[in-house]
Amino acid sequence: MQILHPFAGSVQQYDEQLENPNRYRPGHCPQCQTKHPLTAHGFYTRTLIDTAFDGVIRVRRYLCTACQRTVSLLPEFILPYLRSSLTVIALFLVARLLRGQTIAAAARTAPPLMPYQRGQFWIRRFRTQAATLCVALAALTQPIPAPDFVHRALAMLESTGWIAAHRFLFAGVRCHLLGWPRGLAPDGRRAAFSSRGAPA
Ligand SMILES: [Zn+2]
Repeated sequence: MQILHPFAGSVQQYDEQLENPNRYRPGHCPQCQTKHPLTAHGFYTRTLIDTAFDGVIRVRRYLCTACQRTVSLLPEFILPYLRSSLTVIALFLVARLLRGQTIAAAARTAPPLMPYQRGQFWIRRFRTQAATLCVALAALTQPIPAPDFVHRALAMLESTGWIAAHRFLFAGVRCHLLGWPRGLAPDGRRAAFSSRGAPA
């Protein structure tokens, strides 16, 4: 299961604090609710593209000795199953969908350069998810008058802050800002039959 890392800060600061497994060790298991602190269980690596970073980061994993399941602590600047950081995706979506820039121009506001298809993929997923976001984010901010769900969701994300919104959506209501990939259960847990999804 993936939960959000309590750490808030830059990619570099995230990496620096990773060495100490005690600092953010979960005090209980989110899956079986055992009250024992979890055991450090190494890392997995994943790719990350941020405005000033393109490489591999480590994600710390803990093991619950009661239910034998692992918990990964995802930093707040990434969305599960997506390679680009939340900042890059937000810059692109705002430029394209709120400011009406072309995909190529929007991609330039969200460096580094990326394939055209990646932007289209984010737009498609955001459009599908927009109505759900409007409902969920109403707990955080006033619904904003807008011509459609896409514009309203973007305005609500801009007023809340994308990372604060993601933290609320993911930690609070297990909602993925761009929608969970197909093959996962509605709360983002891996369905028993699905294969491991690579970041897109
Ligand atoms: Zn457990």
